[in-house]
Amino acid sequence: MIGFCEKCHDMVEYSVKEEKKTKIIKGKEIKYTGRVAFCSECEDELFVADVRDYNLQMLDIAFREQEKLISVSEIESILERYKIGKRPLSLLLGWGEVTVTRYLNRDIPTKQYSETLKKILYDPNYMAEILEKNKEKITTHAYTVCKQALEKIDNGTVQKTFELENEGKIDSFVKYLLNNCAEVTPLALQKLLYYVQGFYKAFQGEYLFKDDCEAWVHGPVYRNIYYKYKDHGYNPIEESNVNYGEINLSMPEKEIIDSVITNFACYSGKVLEKMTHIETPWRVTRRGLGDNEVSDMIINKELIANYFVGIKSKYNMLNISDIRDYSTDLFKKLF
Ligand SMILES: [Zn+2]
Repeated sequence: MIGFCEKCHDMVEYSVKEEKKTKIIKGKEIKYTGRVAFCSECEDELFVADVRDYNLQMLDIAFREQEKLISVSEIESILERYKIGKRPLSLLLGWGEVTVTRYLNRDIPTKQYSETLKKILYDPNYMAEILEKNKEKITTHAYTVCKQALEKIDNGTVQKTFELENEGKIDSFVKYLLNNCAEVTPLALQKLLYYVQGFYKAFQGEYLFKDDCEAWVHGPVYRNIYYKYKDHGYNPIEESNVNYGEINLSMPEKEIIDSVITNFACYSGKVLEKMTHIETPWRVTRRGLGDNEVSDMIINKELIANYFVGIKSKYNMLNISDIRDYSTDLFKKLF
């Protein structure tokens, strides 16, 4: 990677290291793991716009977590859940019409606005109430679409709907992995899902499935999948125990999963676990916890996104097959 070094007065190669940082925001001390770039000629610190942007994002995530403010991905979930646009949502709430847009662009909401948005996300009845009360503020079309989305949510909680919709998607990737890996233990399966999610986001710009993983002692874990296969313990999941239905994957989905199988499934579950332990998302989420301390903390999807987007650029990956450079490098770091 190349950047301009003030001291050398020249374009230079630089390397990036992780560093624990602290920043005071609104009188509160926020700790986060950021990055620093160093000139490889003079070893002085170097300004790199990408590194600064990365640090701002990490700080933003840490601040929101500490203050329990709604995250960008939760706001996105509101729009998706209720099929409502950013502007109509702002108008329904009696806010400035670009308020939600600003929040999606990383402006930090006030505690009060954040609480309102959280209530909307988790309480469809509240959303329905606001929609009816303020329907004259938005177009008939926007109203109708949102109303229909609310009707579908029905009596169940939003969380339940999330889970139902999730199921089909992540399960088909699990099936595909079980079908195409020579052998896979529950531990390895979790890590493969994690890499598939991370690299799909880095290469395709979208999350492959909505499920969140948690930062357990042995690495990232998708809880529902864990419960499904936990009886296998440390043994490979036997084919006969899996009900293979039809697996419909798109080309990009298939390419990325195949590459993860080629480049990661060759390692044992334990090795994959160690790999995830040296990566930022799991480490940052478990900050302050002891090695064997149980935690159900969710690894923020944005942390995963930032990390794998960063890896893609750091390793100059052009094709999905380039993830081999990363997996071999990680493996070398372990021993
Ligand atoms: Zn320099």
